[in-house]
Amino acid sequence: QGPPPVTRYNLNKVTVTSDPVRNQEHILILTPMARFYQEYWDNLLRLNYPHELITLGFILPKTKEGNQATSMLQKQIQKTQNHGPEKDRFKSIIILRQDFDPAVVSQDESERHKLANQKARREVMAKARNSLLFTTLGPSTSWVLWLDADIVETAPTLIQDLASHDKPIIVANCFQKYYDPESKKMAERPYDFNSWQDSETALKMAEQMGPDDILLEGYAELATYRTLLAYMSTPGGSKDLVVPLDGVGGTALLVKADVHRDGAMFPPFAFYHLIESEGFAKMAKRLGWQPYGLPNYKVYHYNE
Ligand code: GDP
Ligand code: MN
Repeated sequence: QGPPPVTRYNLNKVTVTSDPVRNQEHILILTPMARFYQEYWDNLLRLNYPHELITLGFILPKTKEGNQATSMLQKQIQKTQNHGPEKDRFKSIIILRQDFDPAVVSQDESERHKLANQKARREVMAKARNSLLFTTLGPSTSWVLWLDADIVETAPTLIQDLASHDKPIIVANCFQKYYDPESKKMAERPYDFNSWQDSETALKMAEQMGPDDILLEGYAELATYRTLLAYMSTPGGSKDLVVPLDGVGGTALLVKADVHRDGAMFPPFAFYHLIESEGFAKMAKRLGWQPYGLPNYKVYHYNE
């Protein structure tokens, strides 16, 4: 028996282009998952990027709820990978169980979104994303799509659409559908406020803060006057409209793998007074990669 084989990868042969299907580019879809929603899985299956080029990675907390979500996820994976049509099957799937405790915050929306709970929660989210990223990013990965477990509706062409802009980091606008009792019709409203362009006010607030303090978006107590992607959409506006951003949310975020390879991650600490996905945008910018957002290209968040 000879020595173990050496595998060589030339990273310069891993292309990252605006036509990733034609160039057979590998994509890693990463999802931190506290709860399993069937609608998320069904939407994922509908993505028409060739599934043989897609690796899925999940990380779930080791709580009662996390255990339940894991078993529901595994059941769907079994069904798709072993019994479903060939074209639905993904290249590979990795499930990680978190080795640190989730923030002691209930997963209910009102609790989750309380300002007092944010720092601990975002810190745990950042660590979950980093663990997931650093264990799954491979030598042939061209793209990383961050897709939250509660994104239940996207275009089937989500990956191609986001990649077509050829940006290092690009985020869709995350909305939520709801029943409007006044019009008695379904309507939609902005959901994710983590994608924004900075303001003088926010920068001044940051200047006055202690080294561990973080700025958060979407709280009246912390009026930042940033320009939010959530409010940049216009009725009938072009889906191809692209705007530069300073902060991004992680709900549906496409990143060129080289941005992560350069070292851009999700700071679980105050980085320029930003944390998690917003800190990631800042870190990427410091590395020379500009984030962008699509005001009129929407994805939809679950409504609890
Ligand atoms: P929100 O939409 O801003 O309220 O944020 P979420 O609570 O939906 O969290 C974002 C994503 O992370 C979702 O996919 C959640 O399922 C997932 N998530 C939330 N908390 C945890 C956690 O403690 N551990 C892991 N692994 N995932 C989590
Ligand atoms: Mn969510």
